[in-house]
Amino acid sequence: MRAALFRGPGVVEVSEIPIPTPGPGDLLVKVRAASICGTDLRIMKHGHFRIPAGTSRVLGHELTGRVVEAGSAVSGFAVGDRISVAPNVGCGRCRMCAKGLNQLCPDYEAFGITMDGGFAEYLLIPAHAIERGNVFHVPEGLSDEVAAVLEPMSCCLHGQRAVHVSPDDSVLIIGAGPIGCFHTVLAKRAGARQVIVANTRQPRLDIAGRMGADELINVGTHDLQAEVERLTGGEGVDVVITCVSKPEVIAGSTALAGRLGRINVFSGLGDQARPQIDVNSLHYREQVLTGTTGSSVVDYGDVIDIVAGSDLDLSPIITSRFPLEDIEAAMDESRSGRGMKSVIVFEEEAA
Ligand SMILES: [Zn+2]
Ligand SMILES: [Zn+2]
Repeated sequence: MRAALFRGPGVVEVSEIPIPTPGPGDLLVKVRAASICGTDLRIMKHGHFRIPAGTSRVLGHELTGRVVEAGSAVSGFAVGDRISVAPNVGCGRCRMCAKGLNQLCPDYEAFGITMDGGFAEYLLIPAHAIERGNVFHVPEGLSDEVAAVLEPMSCCLHGQRAVHVSPDDSVLIIGAGPIGCFHTVLAKRAGARQVIVANTRQPRLDIAGRMGADELINVGTHDLQAEVERLTGGEGVDVVITCVSKPEVIAGSTALAGRLGRINVFSGLGDQARPQIDVNSLHYREQVLTGTTGSSVVDYGDVIDIVAGSDLDLSPIITSRFPLEDIEAAMDESRSGRGMKSVIVFEEEAA
């Protein structure tokens, strides 16, 4: 089969490798669509501490495929089923796994990191991923591409749950990339009174507007603080979600939130300098500052239900499609920030 192999920072090669052989508890899946995530781009740039030097790994953890082989001991999935996966597979034994928080498992495994992922024609899903509830049926009516991009959306759902986005809220989302747009969709769906999206790129803001944002702030031409004060009558917003990896954005979040404001540091900073936080703002205005990472299998299943059971149109978030051979071009497109999600798509096999 053809597979895009990550060989080390900066190197990805499309090569011919053997199709994996499923054991009695495993599934073999023919991949239909796999979207490119910031995590894939970070691994391409810096590698990953869970991918030892010298390892070849198929990246890609946002994917949809069709089961082409099911081991004799597999139940719940059969040949022909369309599936997607919650990529982080918990160990199933630790305290975090016991709480259902597999994204916080210290011994997690993950498709596209410790196991081969979706940038290949076929994907092996091992028994333990099925047992831990990481594999989901894709409902009719969800396209392969949309089902693939539900993974990052599930992380957004997890993030909004942590700051309890609710109908009375004014919500500020900083960043209008795919993540900012998923947050927009979910905040509106949660009934938020006012959803404000801030970004430097007008084309991205326009897509956030199509996804339901009430107010758009182009921070290239407008002062964020002044605009938020104007839009909230000087009170500040109830919820801030930071979706850009900039220390100054996180530092500025306490001044944008009002009394009882809840702030979610949704984007990590990598090795950038850590910002100073105005703890007096937390104290005197009783604000809560938290962060979230990834999503649990429960969040993932919930987001499938939310999208499948609604008329939400997520297609504006998918702006380019590439065959596997063009994985580098797909990654470049993702990195450029010109569009939104880039998806590797596989042609339907001839019957
Ligand atoms: Zn992702
Ligand atoms: Zn665990």
